[in-house]
Amino acid sequence: MNKRLTIALVAHDQRKADMVEWAVFNADMLSQHQLVCTGTTGSLIKEAFAEKDIHAEVTCMHSGPLGGDAEIAAMVVRHEINLAVFLIDDLNPQPHEADIQMLLRQCRVHNVPIACNRYSADLMITSGLWDVSDYVPSTPRYIKFERS
Ligand code: PGA
Repeated sequence: MNKRLTIALVAHDQRKADMVEWAVFNADMLSQHQLVCTGTTGSLIKEAFAEKDIHAEVTCMHSGPLGGDAEIAAMVVRHEINLAVFLIDDLNPQPHEADIQMLLRQCRVHNVPIACNRYSADLMITSGLWDVSDYVPSTPRYIKFERS
């Protein structure tokens, strides 16, 4: 990929093992981009990268429950995020459910690709569309369907 992206990485506690494994597996690709993470996710990725001598720009926001998802959602609103990988724990309730829904909603509203599982993340980071200069993603329309 020729374009340098800002990629948000967020994983709930029971999904962090998957996130760290995914990030290390894709380290060559991810190290060419800027990574913005919630606090604990980012620290674990930094640690795993350091162990393997992988150099990447990783910025840590607050921890998710303390506002990290909200900070990343604000970046989405400002169009500072190109892609988000958000590994949600769908089997356990989270104290910051409102913030989780906000991040998901703002990605939908602002048309930011968001992968909520590793398969989607793999498909998104390998997409050839990132380098198609005349591809313009269509923005979501909130209009009533009218028969022609
Ligand atoms: P964390 O936040 O990376 O700080 O654990 C993730 C989340 O719970 O949204």
